[in-house]
Amino acid sequence: MSNRDFEYMMPTSQAQMLDVIGQFGRRARVLAGGTDLVPSMHKGKLDANVVALVSLRQSSLNYIRKDTEGLVIGSATTHTDVATSALVRAEAAALATGSGAVGSLQIRNVATIGGNLCTAGPSADTSAPLTALDARLIAASKRGTRVIPITQWYLGPSRNCLEPDEALIEIVVPTLPPFTGTHYRKFSPRSYMDLAWVGVAVVVTLDKSLKLCEDVRIGLSAVSPSPMRAVKAEAVVRGREITDGLLDKMAETASEECNPNPRSRRVPAWYRRDMVRVLTKRGFNEARRLAAAGR
Ligand SMILES: Cc1cc2nc3c(=O)[nH]c(=O)nc-3n(C[C@H](O)[C@H](O)[C@H](O)COP(=O)(O)OP(=O)(O)OC[C@H]3O[C@@H](n4cnc5c(N)ncnc54)[C@H](O)[C@@H]3O)c2cc1C
Repeated sequence: MSNRDFEYMMPTSQAQMLDVIGQFGRRARVLAGGTDLVPSMHKGKLDANVVALVSLRQSSLNYIRKDTEGLVIGSATTHTDVATSALVRAEAAALATGSGAVGSLQIRNVATIGGNLCTAGPSADTSAPLTALDARLIAASKRGTRVIPITQWYLGPSRNCLEPDEALIEIVVPTLPPFTGTHYRKFSPRSYMDLAWVGVAVVVTLDKSLKLCEDVRIGLSAVSPSPMRAVKAEAVVRGREITDGLLDKMAETASEECNPNPRSRRVPAWYRRDMVRVLTKRGFNEARRLAAAGR
């Protein structure tokens, strides 16, 4: 248990928050829901140089709205709010499912979507959906804002690309074209309170005939050091007429393309690969069904 003292700050505006983290840099940590940060502090894993905690509780970063860019979600929005939002369910069902799969109701009521991204765990439940949805992440500092494509966000296990004076402000999920369906499947042996053994999200866009796969994006979590896009598997089916044989090839390619930890004591790599093969095909078929049904 940590017995260190911290300066605790609760800025009441975004500008004030950026001022504080700009001033402290590496010596401050943002505190959103605290469900990752507090346990890591208790385990003594927090960098010894950190002296200040900057709470997002009053930062006004808790919102979900739709604008011309797409779905815009404040980084301090809780998983409960994301999972139960009619807007998210309508526009990006896979993300609502991902947030709804995090921990327990008590955890989801305080844990945030931004915290899930910033922790950058390989098995984070919003990572595969946001990857497949091609989300853009908005980071801000006193120097200004920058837009980070999610494929550039993860730098390795538990590492993201934020600079020490930056905070994640919001997440933008671009509007999906017509005839698009999205689906997320988390596989873990327990139905809740367990990290994913494998996470698969699929976004499928069909043409008007509903037979041709115009576009597909596949996000995978827990099967490589960081969440990833299965780009080779996508290429197998993109622009092609969908057949069962083609989907088998797509699923096999995803299973070959992922990179599960061979030294994991939790799950053997061969098992994770096998589950990627099974779940990618099931995920595609479910996303396709939703696309054909008009989402
Ligand atoms: C019992 C339990 C079960 C869990 N089960 C799951 C699960 O099933 N699936 C899953 O994915 N996760 C799970 N988690 C992990 C955790 O709940 C999630 O990752 C959660 O989304 C983290 O959000 P938070 O707001 O609590 O983050 P915090 O703990 O507040 O922050 C996490 C990290 O991100 C940084 N940070 C947070 N917000 C920002 C920001 N806006 N800008 C910059 N840095 C920021 C913090 O400084 C910290 O380093 C579980 C945790 C617990 C304790």
